[in-house]
Amino acid sequence: MPQVEILAEVTKFLEGPPKMVIGGKSAGAVSDGTFEAINPATGKVICEVPRADAADVDVAVAAARQAFDDRRWTGLRPGKRTEILIKLADLLKRNMNELTQLEALDGGKPLTQASAEVWTSADHLRYYSGWPTKIFGDTTPSADDLFVYSLREPLGVVGGIIPWNFPLIMAVRKVAPALACGNTIVLKPAEQTPLTAIRFAELCLEAGVPDGVVNVVTGFGDEAGQALAQHHDVDKIAFTGSTEVGRKILHASEGNLKRVMLELGGKSPNIVFSDADLRRASKGSMIGVFMNAGQVCTAGTRILVENDVHDSFIESLVDATGTMKVGDPFEEGTGMGPLISEQQMERVTGYIEIARAEGAELVTGGERPTDLGDGYFVQPTVFANVSNDMRIAQEEVFGPVAAVIRVDDVEEAIRTANDSIYGLAAAVWTRDISKAHRVARGIRAGTVWVNTYGLYDSAVGYGGYKQSGFGRELGKESLESYTQTKSVWVNLK
Ligand code: NAP
Ligand code: MG
Repeated sequence: MPQVEILAEVTKFLEGPPKMVIGGKSAGAVSDGTFEAINPATGKVICEVPRADAADVDVAVAAARQAFDDRRWTGLRPGKRTEILIKLADLLKRNMNELTQLEALDGGKPLTQASAEVWTSADHLRYYSGWPTKIFGDTTPSADDLFVYSLREPLGVVGGIIPWNFPLIMAVRKVAPALACGNTIVLKPAEQTPLTAIRFAELCLEAGVPDGVVNVVTGFGDEAGQALAQHHDVDKIAFTGSTEVGRKILHASEGNLKRVMLELGGKSPNIVFSDADLRRASKGSMIGVFMNAGQVCTAGTRILVENDVHDSFIESLVDATGTMKVGDPFEEGTGMGPLISEQQMERVTGYIEIARAEGAELVTGGERPTDLGDGYFVQPTVFANVSNDMRIAQEEVFGPVAAVIRVDDVEEAIRTANDSIYGLAAAVWTRDISKAHRVARGIRAGTVWVNTYGLYDSAVGYGGYKQSGFGRELGKESLESYTQTKSVWVNLK
């Protein structure tokens, strides 16, 4: 298969080398420290980026605070903010190939999926660009001698802390609503994928976002991330990542009681009833669990299958899995790239061993491909005869591992689906419309798909139940969490 060439602008950006963006300027770390950005398909170093610690976070938060306090962004005419956000969306599209390659290099995503990520990020920006002119306060009916109204105002400085699985989308999901509501932001991308966040911050400046409104600090979670979460001059942390780190964020935010929004892990049930279109269900389930090498918070990793179709479903799932080509993200036709890091690969192969030891039946995969060099690849893997109390059914693997569990009927399906600490997403496959709605209502999760898997839209709210977090992103639901209301009482006497 032909290999796609690295673009000259990508090479130029990497040779920069990439620096943080703080107060509108390119910045190294105060300590001069750096760390390596790694290509997970080869294990090789791509470039070095600054290693920020608490001192850099202080500088970035001060820049964001100053930009907020002098109202260089908040005070712009709302229509002007719309214009700038539209320009930013256009710039993402104009630089689509560069951003796509950077994302594929840094995160190991096949090029087609990386370009879909850039497209979605531009779509989020375009959606939020419409909001600055549509965020209203209220007037309250009152006595003749009073005038009472509310102002819906931004919170101030937002800290965004994000994971590595969809680096650009995650960055934009924090920055777009924060900016639409008039806030400023300090963003800390994951240590594994700092590159597109840096490039995105540069494009913000090019689009006309004023200096200091979008700042990016690259570094490690327990240094830069922790400092941001603890910072007394940060008004909100918008966090996406693991449930374990979500707990730490909550603790760190105690000092100044900043607002916290948590988008956390999942172990999403994907229920296939015997009256489903099995061919569609198996293909959808395959994509639902193996998309992005299973490194998706909403991955449908628990496939609950009604007894009578269990064996035929497994057969068609294995067939569908066989059509997916694992390989080099830069090679055309690749459907699944490597895992993000050696550590993640070891975690996933560790869970495969645990599943075997617990008595789950390995149906396909379970190994590392032998022909793909030093990249962090693991074959798409399906276990059958899993019971819901096994670790493989309860813990988030975050890799290409499906656990198929038998269920007897609708009631058992709902009960099993809900028997999890998580509640991020779920799906149900059936031709019976009332059964579909009954299950959708019965499942405790923030998103339920019917006869499909993994659909998202900029306009549709998204977030978790239970230990999958709280707060909602996307859609108008997210706006409330980036604003606060002020009641103003005027004495007309
Ligand atoms: P993670 O380990 O929780 O890290 C997420 C971010 O938090 C990273 O930027 C990380 O920095 C930072 N961090 C780590 N320790 C910190 C601390 N003590 N204080 C402040 N920040 C800290 O998650 P991940 O491994 O990157 O991503 C996988 C997880 O994200 C999975 O659990 C997945 O389900 C979840 N996820 C959820 C959603 C959703 O929308 N619900 C979406 C995508 C992913 P480092 O990079 O340096 O560790
Ligand atoms: Mg990387």
